[in-house]
Amino acid sequence: MAAERDQLQADRPEGCWCLGLGGRIPVALAQITKPEDERDWPMSWREFCSCEEGQAAEREADRILREYQVESRAIRLKRILGRASFGHYQGQTWNSYLALVEQRIGRVPRSVTAVVKQLRLCAQPGSTTWFYIWGPYGTGKTAALVVIMDELLDAHPDLVITTIGEMLEKVQATFGHKAGDEGSSTDDVIQAYRETSLLLVDDLGNENESTTPWARTTVWRMLNERYMAGDKRTGFTSNLSPEALEESLGAAVAQRILEDVLEVDMSICPNLRER
Ligand SMILES: [Zn+2]
Repeated sequence: MAAERDQLQADRPEGCWCLGLGGRIPVALAQITKPEDERDWPMSWREFCSCEEGQAAEREADRILREYQVESRAIRLKRILGRASFGHYQGQTWNSYLALVEQRIGRVPRSVTAVVKQLRLCAQPGSTTWFYIWGPYGTGKTAALVVIMDELLDAHPDLVITTIGEMLEKVQATFGHKAGDEGSSTDDVIQAYRETSLLLVDDLGNENESTTPWARTTVWRMLNERYMAGDKRTGFTSNLSPEALEESLGAAVAQRILEDVLEVDMSICPNLRER
């Protein structure tokens, strides 16, 4: 056995320590990416040899991991959009928005280009600045939010896109559950919204539910906790101007949302739903 090994080693190129296997310390590729994924992951090495076999093994591992990233992004996107029925906005880009504007009104006004520039700032990865996109029905706010989501998905794989109505529904669905019961407790649900690194809230201030005292308190508490955490980013779309938001949600909630916020006024943008 030892003699065989010596013979193998003698045939290997200079600097090779892998005996042609490609590397050492076997590892399933799932351990590097996503341990909870239960599929059968191919084996690779934690350390690769410098020989030809080692380099080939490293390239193959890279290829599998890249493929996995593309696939898991598509799965995440489907999960996020499927859950909140934003699905039909998927695949839009800033350019497709501008193309739609041109198609509707025959040109792209400079003011609209300026708005898109501001919207792109909302999609800056690494920023923790909150943003508030407002304008009348049909100007493309939700589409813009989905584009922003798409651009931030890699930086915020845990992001949540939702509406206040959907959030309150999920909280209400937990009423009567206690910690440890089947299903989530109220605190679990609020905690999930509180702790996601990026929360995107569509159509803020448009829900009747959000005007009851209980709803207002729940939303305020959750947003306040996100704000106090300092590293949680939150973005909103709304039909309401900042002034109208204060009237609708009360001064405390509105001020929390609008403090240091990047405000994007889409009220000058054309209505894309009118023919
Ligand atoms: Zn080798």
